[in-house]
Amino acid sequence: MYHDGSCLVDFSLFDVLPREKAEWCLAEIQQTLADNCLRIVEYTLAGGEVGVIDENAGPAGELWFEGRIKPMHTLVDGERAVLWLASNISQRHHLEARLRQLSETDELTGLCNRRRFMQILGQQLTDYVPETADIALLIVDIDHFKPINDQYGHLDGDLIIKTLTAVCAAELDTNALFARLGGEEFAIVLTDTTPGAALRIAERLRQAVAASRFELECATVVPVTISIGASVVRPYRRRINELLRDADIALYEAKSQGRNRVVMARDPDPASRRA
Ligand code: GH3
Ligand code: MG
Ligand code: MG
Repeated sequence: MYHDGSCLVDFSLFDVLPREKAEWCLAEIQQTLADNCLRIVEYTLAGGEVGVIDENAGPAGELWFEGRIKPMHTLVDGERAVLWLASNISQRHHLEARLRQLSETDELTGLCNRRRFMQILGQQLTDYVPETADIALLIVDIDHFKPINDQYGHLDGDLIIKTLTAVCAAELDTNALFARLGGEEFAIVLTDTTPGAALRIAERLRQAVAASRFELECATVVPVTISIGASVVRPYRRRINELLRDADIALYEAKSQGRNRVVMARDPDPASRRA
């Protein structure tokens, strides 16, 4: 789990570590001495980064360490010193990263799930600077999905959801936030956009889905369409719930107008906005 570090005795940090890492270690040591209390840090270090030691005589690749840096109460060679206890936490780190990924990912589609989506959109709205570019939200819902599910079964329903995810992802820029909110409902956030551009992208998605082949396990091909409700951030629609609510209202309109269409949330009339 560790390289043999006995050969490091008598070397300074700057003798054996890349300059940037040595500087970081020194700053942490100085901070520990200034605070005069235990400091806990996490960092990466690979055997190959440490001069002098035999990198092949320990775990390969980048390792994660927890460093517990403790100020010593006695001087060492007349100088203040710290005890830096490094533990290899690579396994724990990778497990935590995997758990975090699982808790943020929709299992069926691999898209981010509702929870992660709300976190990212919340942050995007916090960082949003009015009068730069627009942020648009699209809510995508499969039309008449229940009858398809009822007729062909849940597994074929899942297959449609997965195919639809791939069709939409192929139409979107990689910087679009694409999430599955649940069931047959998806959300897309477009940043740095305009209402016109967001509508064009939504229309492109709608057409791509309508033109795609959705082939079930039994080789039956079923027609699939989507309806999309869109809303754009405005001074009176800055909060996440307002954006979702108005996109939902627009989606409801798309459904009631006959489905397989895109509707953009309307601006409230000035009189009601003043009220
Ligand atoms: P509309 O056009 O108004 O959206 O009609 P709809 O039938 O699509 O809407 P409704 O909300 O009545 O039905 C949604 C269906 O989605 C209900 C359920 O059968 C199905 N569903 C929800 N979650 C899943 C899932 O994870 N997998 C599958 N296969 N089906 C799901
Ligand atoms: Mg539906
Ligand atoms: Mg639905």
